[in-house]
Amino acid sequence: MQPTPQVGYKERAMQAEIIAVGSELLTPYRQDTNSLFLTDRLNRLGIEVIRKTIVGDDRKQIAGAFAEALRRAELVISIGGLGPTEDDQTREAAAEVLGRRLRRDEAVLREIQERFRRYGRKMAPVNERQAMVPEGAEPLPNPNGTAPGLWIETDGRLVVLLPGPPRELMPMFLEHVEPRLRERAGDVLLLTRELRVAGMAESDVEQRIAPIYTRYEGVQTTLLASPGEIQIHLRAWTRDPEHANKTLDELTDRLAVALGTHLFTTRGESLEEVVARLLNTHGATLALAESITGGLIAQRLTSIPGSSSYLVGGIVCYSNEVKTAWVGVPAELIRQKGAVSAEVALALAQQIRERSGATLGLGITGIAGPGGGTAEKPVGTVFVALADGRRTIERNAHFPGDRERIRWQAAQLALDLIRHYFQFPTGQP
Ligand code: AMP
Ligand code: MG
Repeated sequence: MQPTPQVGYKERAMQAEIIAVGSELLTPYRQDTNSLFLTDRLNRLGIEVIRKTIVGDDRKQIAGAFAEALRRAELVISIGGLGPTEDDQTREAAAEVLGRRLRRDEAVLREIQERFRRYGRKMAPVNERQAMVPEGAEPLPNPNGTAPGLWIETDGRLVVLLPGPPRELMPMFLEHVEPRLRERAGDVLLLTRELRVAGMAESDVEQRIAPIYTRYEGVQTTLLASPGEIQIHLRAWTRDPEHANKTLDELTDRLAVALGTHLFTTRGESLEEVVARLLNTHGATLALAESITGGLIAQRLTSIPGSSSYLVGGIVCYSNEVKTAWVGVPAELIRQKGAVSAEVALALAQQIRERSGATLGLGITGIAGPGGGTAEKPVGTVFVALADGRRTIERNAHFPGDRERIRWQAAQLALDLIRHYFQFPTGQP
């Protein structure tokens, strides 16, 4: 293979660190979700997040986190700890680290007072703390709460203090921080691609694609595994989007060839979105007879707007009696082959298709566990079939994991079977 052209990752993006402040974020009960939002927005501006820190409501800890982050990053954004109470220490910690005195900002104080008046409440004296602003800092208005944000410039570095509640942080960032950062971020851009694969283990994906992507040093390639699906994320920071787009497209094409029929999107779509698109473009309709998945396939398909144009309906046929009475699987067949069998999956697919009048019928049956497995059909065994009135295709699998993982992978297998039916009509499923 030819040496591959490099995109300019070395032309480095502005680097940022995020400090999430709050003792609740160090318990098992609350997660820092704001930094995910911020990272997404920063990346879109071409700013790279190089580290995130979580600290409790402790002034020393917060000050330490600021001091360290400022040594590494040009932009430091903190989340939380701007409230009126004693445990809200971010303002004080930042002022201390930056060597700035806090002074009362009369305009901010008036705004807080005004807010309390508007809601007919008396302002508690503690709220005056929220009007304390480090010298040289610019307060950022907060229409959704009392705590203003703060924008501070220092020795070529930017420090931004944002409130913790997402409904305050998000609009404040979008309205007051993003436009300012856009001016500073320079012309480095982050370009991304996302490929998704079904029906392959992470190690198999890695084995097939590592020899390819490792040659593209300027592209950060990350594999993310979830049940029944591997995502491949490509990221390139660049000043030359035309060149970088060409490189990303070329890498995407090479990975697509290596992944073959397992690849279901290069646009970051979910499997149900791909299946919905295929059903729509082929003018096909679908009916479901779901045993093991208990309606999960219907749930996933109906979560997509416009699903009524291709999904006629489905039956959750859990018991043998319902498989027979409602879907029409012969009781004798279930007795002979067992409810979890290729034959019953086929009968479910054919019968639901005929009874519903859909162009396609899908049947699925299996053992989700933890009980009910046998030596011949262990927990995780799944049979799925698709019928179109002329032919049937089927697949079976033996999935690892707990009940939820098995059910999700079963739904994934079923959706992937529908995809194959359209995309590889003559090939082996
Ligand atoms: P604070 O500004 O520290 O008073 O935070 C107020 C509330 O915002 C907290 O009780 C949390 O519910 C929420 N919050 C704070 N930090 C975060 C974060 N990093 N991610 C999501 N929610 C947060
Ligand atoms: Mg807090």
